[in-house]
Amino acid sequence: MKAIRTRTLLCLFLFPITLYAQVDNAVVPPVVLCYHQVRDWSSRDSKAARDYIVPVERFKQHMSMLHDKGFHVILPTDLLAYQLRQKKIPPNSVLISFDDGTASQYTTALPVLEKYGFKAVFFIMTVTLDRPGYLSRSQILSLKKAGHVIGCHTWDHHKVTSYNSSDWEKQLSRPTQVLSELTGDKIQYFAYPYGIWDTAAITQLRAAGYTAAFQLYGKQDIRYPQYTIRRIIANGHWNGQQLEAAISGISDRKDNPLNH
Ligand SMILES: [Zn+2]
Repeated sequence: MKAIRTRTLLCLFLFPITLYAQVDNAVVPPVVLCYHQVRDWSSRDSKAARDYIVPVERFKQHMSMLHDKGFHVILPTDLLAYQLRQKKIPPNSVLISFDDGTASQYTTALPVLEKYGFKAVFFIMTVTLDRPGYLSRSQILSLKKAGHVIGCHTWDHHKVTSYNSSDWEKQLSRPTQVLSELTGDKIQYFAYPYGIWDTAAITQLRAAGYTAAFQLYGKQDIRYPQYTIRRIIANGHWNGQQLEAAISGISDRKDNPLNH
């Protein structure tokens, strides 16, 4: 687990998502937030680690800000329908996502989400199922039954760009099957470990029936927009006001060819 945590520590990419929606003639961007651990910092947490370990009070401030400022929390199906021009979404839409399946997402973050009626998508590494410090199978099933979305984050968090032919079964096919059997749902959404993707991975994701994939690094690719959806790390140092400023900064971007 230490190795996994160490790799998880490297999920540090601060690039803005650049999707836009047209609602009542106003350009409004849906923003995808990415959380990892939600817990108070310990003395062992490095400065870099604290960027993505969100202390409990900070997380409460983030969710409170989204609620108080009137952000509309959407799910991936809404985001994709918007992107395919099948649906308009409300102004100030935000998608909340969690990576790596740490237990704090259930024990600490979930009650805060529930306070505001927010739903989120949880990207799970299947190697950690039922292991100490990580989500259990029953917790994941409980999340699904409560209306949250379960996505896949590979078996053990290796970069998709490093796979050989046999790795796809281990890192994609089998984890997809495990999560599908656990939830009773088709698993439609994938988050690239470290946010890193390539076209070979997209081919495999399509073959496995995935509808969309979320990255953290690089521009959204106009050729594969559904499989290169960008997110921002909700930084553990940010209070609610700083998160709002980050979202607003993203809102100012006008350079995305997917803008419609
Ligand atoms: Zn990760």
